[in-house]
Amino acid sequence: MVSVGFIGLGNMGGPMANHLLDAGHDLTVYDLDPDARAALEDAGAAVGEGPADVATHSEVVFLSLPTPEIVRAVVLGDDGVEAGIKAGAILVDTTTSTPGTTEDIAATLADREVTVLGAPVSGGASGARDGTLTTMVGGDPAAYEACEELFSAYAPNRYHVGDSPGDGNVVKLLNNYLSFLGMVGASEAVALGERAGLDPETMVDIFSRSTGRNAAVEDKFPNQIIPGRYDLGFSMALMHKDIRLFSQFAAESDAPVLLGDTVANMISYAKADLGGDADMSEVYKFVQQWIEPSDD
Ligand code: NAD
Repeated sequence: MVSVGFIGLGNMGGPMANHLLDAGHDLTVYDLDPDARAALEDAGAAVGEGPADVATHSEVVFLSLPTPEIVRAVVLGDDGVEAGIKAGAILVDTTTSTPGTTEDIAATLADREVTVLGAPVSGGASGARDGTLTTMVGGDPAAYEACEELFSAYAPNRYHVGDSPGDGNVVKLLNNYLSFLGMVGASEAVALGERAGLDPETMVDIFSRSTGRNAAVEDKFPNQIIPGRYDLGFSMALMHKDIRLFSQFAAESDAPVLLGDTVANMISYAKADLGGDADMSEVYKFVQQWIEPSDD
């Protein structure tokens, strides 16, 4: 049994924290949202007074927060993790963040003999609920090994991708870039087929068994978009954030990403049109606006 802290109990962090609890670990949690805190308290976790207090009680502190800016504030700000964390502890940031943020935090906390792993996850809110996530981890190999059992509570697919704490963030930003290209491309293809009078369900079934397959046609269209559910649990605000971080990473690498620039602009327009709280799957509605079914 490990004393674990978990800060950020949203669509991802809530279920991940629950899996750690179910695995028998001693859990202390915190979130700004009282309902999120209460749900974990009901499940058997202790609720900390804030990030510093959570860290005081924990050998390993997990974060699942919206943005790198919030991670920085929660770790290094007033009453942050830094103020409470003990020497020898490990900080695991599962947030989709930038490599630079994770590396800066790792450098700051190294003075306190704390090791930082950047350990973002993929698999969506349903993967978090089912405990079927993939995690891609950067940082000290010994710290990775020490945390493997904790990762196994929610991620059957685990990769140590490099020794630098930001390496996992690089892989995650590249993964989400591919995921968004797939979502936008599939939206255009299905909307164009609908305009030609074809059945979206049949088209998506064909694409998912043909060379056009990707996560959008295999999962998002059949399970979310075609049944009109639009509750993937990944907001437009997070989609916009991730493509912003990808573009920032590409710019810092001095690498042209032509499709990336186009998709980033499209996601900006979609977020302005649909709002940040809309679900990412609603990108399809946005694309449909300019590929309306033909009246001819
Ligand atoms: P979410 O918005 O559902 O949850 C974030 C939680 O953080 C909320 O409960 C919020 O109250 C809390 N929070 C915000 N600021 C805080 C602060 N200062 N102190 C304490 N708590 C604070 O987001 P999510 O969908 O759970 O995503 C979390 C992270 O995981 C993001 O970085 C996201 O990009 C990434 N991610 C999300 C998905 C997905 O499908 N939702 C998949 C993979 C990765």
